[in-house]
Amino acid sequence: MGKPEEVQFQVKKVFVLLRKNSKTFIPPAIDQIILEFGRDPFLILISCLLSLRTRDTTSVVISRKLFSRGHTPQEILAIPVHDLEKIFYSIGFFRAKARTIRSVCQELIDRFSGHVPQTEQELLSIKGVGQKTANAVLGYAFNIPALCVDTHVHQIANRLGWVQTRTPEQTEQALKKIVPKHYWIELNHLFVLWGQNICTPTRPYCSRCAIAHLCPKLGVIHSR
Ligand code: SF4
Repeated sequence: MGKPEEVQFQVKKVFVLLRKNSKTFIPPAIDQIILEFGRDPFLILISCLLSLRTRDTTSVVISRKLFSRGHTPQEILAIPVHDLEKIFYSIGFFRAKARTIRSVCQELIDRFSGHVPQTEQELLSIKGVGQKTANAVLGYAFNIPALCVDTHVHQIANRLGWVQTRTPEQTEQALKKIVPKHYWIELNHLFVLWGQNICTPTRPYCSRCAIAHLCPKLGVIHSR
């Protein structure tokens, strides 16, 4: 990448184009949950945990089923374990997920009076909550600038040449240096949309990509 001001100019252009060209795409899971249930920090936290290593289409269905039984840590804990496992049955490691969700609810009650904390440090102190989930909750639930880096964000940022990193954790740190803070929350939204529809993990659709002229396609071997 070039000088910081050139990078920031490119970031701005990419955001303008992605916003304009992603309007008709199905929103990512987190946006669907917010549209349906409002910006409730607890529901956002739980749906983020359910979406880990799970396809969006599946995690949204599971979240809906779960939230039809309860909207608070107390209500989720009141669901019998057997019922909870039945709700989660279609996702991988459903028993482990049920255990995690229950222990997160218990910790929220024991340590935070049933509320979701608003700091990175406190969120990360909850067993089962990792960096990606903490950042998603900060950004989507509390509108606190945080860069939530999932596989799409990691991959697209590298293909664009904005970063040259091996892990999402490295990508988060590198992106923070070049992407202005006011873009952080939206970056996750736009790159996830783009990754699900155009810049797919394998054989991205470069021929119909609105930012192809700005992209060196680093690491892309086969595209469509
Ligand atoms: S040009 Fe290809 S690699 Fe670059 S962002 Fe678009 S789809 Fe992804």
